Amino acid sequence: MAKEVVPNQERWAAAHMVDREFWRAAGRAGLLCISIPEEYGGGGATFAHEAVIAEEQARVGDDAWANMVHSTIVAHYINAFGTEEQKQRWLPGMASGDLVGAIAMTEPGTGSDLQSVRTRARRDGDHYVIDGAKTFISNGTHCDLLVVVARTGDDEGGKGLSLIVAETEGLEGFERGRVLDKIGQHGQDTRELFFSGMRVPAGNLLGTQGRGFAQLMQQLPQERLIIAVAGAAAATAAVRETIAYVKERGRSVR
Ligand SMILES: Cc1cc2nc3c(=O)[nH]c(=O)nc-3n(C[C@H](O)[C@H](O)[C@H](O)COP(=O)(O)OP(=O)(O)OC[C@H]3O[C@@H](n4cnc5c(N)ncnc54)[C@H](O)[C@@H]3O)c2cc1C
Repeated sequence: MAKEVVPNQERWAAAHMVDREFWRAAGRAGLLCISIPEEYGGGGATFAHEAVIAEEQARVGDDAWANMVHSTIVAHYINAFGTEEQKQRWLPGMASGDLVGAIAMTEPGTGSDLQSVRTRARRDGDHYVIDGAKTFISNGTHCDLLVVVARTGDDEGGKGLSLIVAETEGLEGFERGRVLDKIGQHGQDTRELFFSGMRVPAGNLLGTQGRGFAQLMQQLPQERLIIAVAGAAAATAAVRETIAYVKERGRSVR
């Protein structure tokens, strides 16, 4: 973190993204997908190891690298609900940093209330045709694999939702919108995404059609926990920095 993250803070903030090569360097260092089984290229470790990485990142004051979304969240959707073929296809690339993951739940009109998702995925032969708009998507610039929360049935509320993985490279109907200018986390590529007639192979469905809301409810606690871990670590780091600073200032005043 001290060598590869700290010196890049201002540059990443200005670019609204970390370097692509940084993802690969993190992969080589074994930091990506550390809690994913080794048979899929991961580190074979536990959530505790993800927590240590998040803490060390917060300790140096970095809020640019969205590894938590990639490793602790997206990779675990694939690991928990993917078929053997999907896991073999996607997880090793996520562990090396060749594939960056993102998850698209939030929409312009839907945040906390995920049961109101309006993005629609219509089955057409061997594909889903997806139309809709998402916003606030972390790793929106980098993402190669995007877990899309979409409505696949006519049921209202949570019942008709499914999770479908879009492989974004060269994907027709996939468009990146604005990078959002936030009050903090300037180095993060938090972005709007648009889908218009976006065709994704039906084989990219994660788990069972119509079970998306239950899948989200199963995974969101880990997402909330890692955000809390990073928040607590950032607060601790801020107190430590403040104490060091006021002691230094106090000395110069005396
Ligand atoms: C930096 C950043 C990165 C993000 N990354 C992602 C991402 O990668 N993928 C993704 O899908 N989303 C992402 N989000 C979006 C995030 O998940 C949403 O902001 C969050 O779900 C809240 O939704 P909202 O902003 O629409 O707020 P709202 O849902 O509109 O809520 C506004 C306020 O109302 C309160 N509120 C809402 N409902 C109720 C209720 N029933 N009772 C009482 N109070 C209520 C909320 O607590 C909040 O204070 C990101 C957001 C940020 C800021």
